Amino acid sequence: MLDADFFRRWMTAAAASVDREADRLTALDSAIGDADHGSNLQRGFTAVTAVLEKEAPDTPGAVLTLAGRQLISTVGGASGPLYGTLLRRTGKALGDAAEVGEEQLAAALREGVDGVMKLGGAAPGDKTMIDALVPAVDALASGFAAARTAAEEGAEATTPLQARKGRASYLGERSIGHQDPGATSSALLIAALADTAEADGE
Ligand code: ADP
Ligand code: MG
Repeated sequence: MLDADFFRRWMTAAAASVDREADRLTALDSAIGDADHGSNLQRGFTAVTAVLEKEAPDTPGAVLTLAGRQLISTVGGASGPLYGTLLRRTGKALGDAAEVGEEQLAAALREGVDGVMKLGGAAPGDKTMIDALVPAVDALASGFAAARTAAEEGAEATTPLQARKGRASYLGERSIGHQDPGATSSALLIAALADTAEADGE
């Protein structure tokens, strides 16, 4: 079972990963966006770890809703409200249970991803974070490692696509040939989840 501490460690691992990969995320965003995706997420996840430490929410749902709220209020740009919605909706779906199982998490994440699709209007194949998140959630039934692989493959598969949502869509065909920054950071988020689970022996 996964408790509040597990979810706090997931967010801490995500923050560390975003820190390590910030330059790469920004380089990807400089090719088809405005070169701020790494710094956007760095600012957001630094604020997330700080607020989680300060407020110490004591259920999985409360950890993710607080993290999502914090992303919405600190990240300018499209990705803040989208990632914020992902975590808030997932947290809300987890309710106020002290511990949740893997199946419950998979179902809750699916609601979170649905929330992102509703808010942003993107579908799979539009070259966005959705292209990593949907395969990850689909694969989660087979375990955390499978979700990590699916997210990474989903992110890589955005390279030949033409962007139909977000800033990259303004480039039309010139968005082809570059990996989507948001799909790349979504793969980092899922990898951080898998790392946290593996460290726990899940
Ligand atoms: P901005 O585009 O405002 O500069 P970021 O650079 O932080 O914001 O994030 C860009 C990423 O956000 C894109 O690579 C894409 O994955 C994601 N994104 C943008 N618009 C949408 C959308 N409508 N639906 C889903 N994801 C989106
Ligand atoms: Mg950007």
